[in-house]
Amino acid sequence: MSATPRKPNLSRGEKVIPGLWRLKLPLPWPLVPHGNAFAVADGDGLLLIDTGIHSDESMDNLEDALNQCGLSLDMVHRIVCTHAHADHAGQAMSIKDRTGAEILINPALDHMRGYVKDPDGTLDYRLSRALLCGVPSEAVERQREMRRGMDSGFDRVLEADRDLVEGMTIPSDLGELNVIETPGHAPSHVVLHQPEGRLLFSGDHILGRVSLYYDVGYTPDPAGEFLTSLDKVASLGARLCLSGHGKPVNAIPELAAANKAAVEGRLRAIRSSLATEPLSAWEITSLLYEGMPEEPRIGWFLPETLAYLTHLAILGEVVRDEAEPVERWAVAPAAS
Ligand SMILES: [Zn+2]
Repeated sequence: MSATPRKPNLSRGEKVIPGLWRLKLPLPWPLVPHGNAFAVADGDGLLLIDTGIHSDESMDNLEDALNQCGLSLDMVHRIVCTHAHADHAGQAMSIKDRTGAEILINPALDHMRGYVKDPDGTLDYRLSRALLCGVPSEAVERQREMRRGMDSGFDRVLEADRDLVEGMTIPSDLGELNVIETPGHAPSHVVLHQPEGRLLFSGDHILGRVSLYYDVGYTPDPAGEFLTSLDKVASLGARLCLSGHGKPVNAIPELAAANKAAVEGRLRAIRSSLATEPLSAWEITSLLYEGMPEEPRIGWFLPETLAYLTHLAILGEVVRDEAEPVERWAVAPAAS
């Protein structure tokens, strides 16, 4: 009798080192099919780092992954979220309801609150910004049609029991975990560093492959903040990267350098695209990501381009012309 084929979207739990387990949890996103949470031994209970997204099956998925490691959800007495994206913090409140665990997350949560309270309102705001950036109105309406009514991936608005801020330490059987604020990917992003074990729980700040994403509109300079956060993390001396997606990898300084090089490459590409004439953010995005399907180009890469344009404007290299219905960006007079 042949075995039933294993579904690709099942959860999996595995030991990384004694006292540390990786919980690989399915996500409903084609481009990002899995995310990681981590269970860390902490006395007679468990510290859970990130939670996975909230959906009908997500609590079963988490329990299944924990059970595969010989652990149970009821052991979780503390939840630390690396940042307030749905795939990292989406079911924190439900776990707290179930186990009484306390929740720790950085207080820069505006990027989550508005979205969870009013996903369609947030969508309308983002699409009005896309129009201003020069995305054609038919493409904007296609996005509205596709995304309206979509679930936020959060069980409800996340409320911290304690703010997770720079300088705090979190106890665990692995040793104390130092909290380091690393905004950029998200305003609320932190990483956890265990110095003696040279471990870094890196969330989405550093992944095993370079994948750049920014929540724009909440802080002055997301790309600049990301670069500063990369420098901070590269200087820690950590080695084993336990990231929010993919397998653990032993290459933190190399990955920090690769991320920095990727950002610098995009900044160079934007500078050269503006060398001959002013362009809208959408025209620049379409030049840089030619051939990329419309949906990620609008939802992912347009905000990325905006983050770089904002960074270059802060450096005094480009200026934004807000006078027209579609904003255009140009090389700053002093820089040309
Ligand atoms: Zn994220």
